[in-house]
Amino acid sequence: CGITAYVGHGEALPFLMQGLARLEYRGYDSAGVTILNEKLTTVKRKGRLANLEEELKNYDMTGHVGIGHTRWATHGVPSNLNSHPHTNAKNTLSIVHNGIIENYKELKEILLSKGYTFQSETDSEVVVQALDYFYDGDLMEAMKKVLNCIDGSYALCAISTHEPDRIVVAKKDSPLVIGKTKEGYVAASDTPALLAYTKDVYFLEDNELALLTADSCDFYTRTGESVTKELTTIPYDL
Ligand code: GLU
Repeated sequence: CGITAYVGHGEALPFLMQGLARLEYRGYDSAGVTILNEKLTTVKRKGRLANLEEELKNYDMTGHVGIGHTRWATHGVPSNLNSHPHTNAKNTLSIVHNGIIENYKELKEILLSKGYTFQSETDSEVVVQALDYFYDGDLMEAMKKVLNCIDGSYALCAISTHEPDRIVVAKKDSPLVIGKTKEGYVAASDTPALLAYTKDVYFLEDNELALLTADSCDFYTRTGESVTKELTTIPYDL
């Protein structure tokens, strides 16, 4: 239901959490975050953001890259395990997803037959398992291959321990906005999550991907052509 993402020179967690709080009005049943700091640390909890905040006190969540999610369950009951982010078995990849993967059952069958195991009942988990299947050292390339397999709606953010400087995002029929801040780039499913950090944004269009690092933001089509985008300044105060 809600997505936040941060890659920059500052700390990721404060941005992720304030953004999720700003997206609360959309409704949600669970929330979670992954911080990338050499390894991936994922903490997720059913219920209010306060539950997640309480649990986060038990973890070292320092790091300059991270993704966050508030879930409105469509496939799989609200539970800690079904909450996002979802990770692969090796804990080298993590994703958050808004939307519905319509063909997740058949993709899950294929991945199960290739030896993959699933931790959740969600449609979203096929994305991270398929990313693992296609991953060959390039997160953007793997994401493009995954997008060619999935039907449905998505805003997606993905991170990998093998490429610790970046976040790959993609969108179709579910909103995703990218913000340029003084300390790096951020992304969210809606602008209120960004406004405390920046009013300078790029709106991702359907079937586009973006590669975010602390110092760059590059846009591509699903076939790999680069896209030039105008920075839009949101003309109001909140
Ligand atoms: N379909 C996904 C799920 O049920 C994502 C739902 C959402 O957009 O929050 O986990």
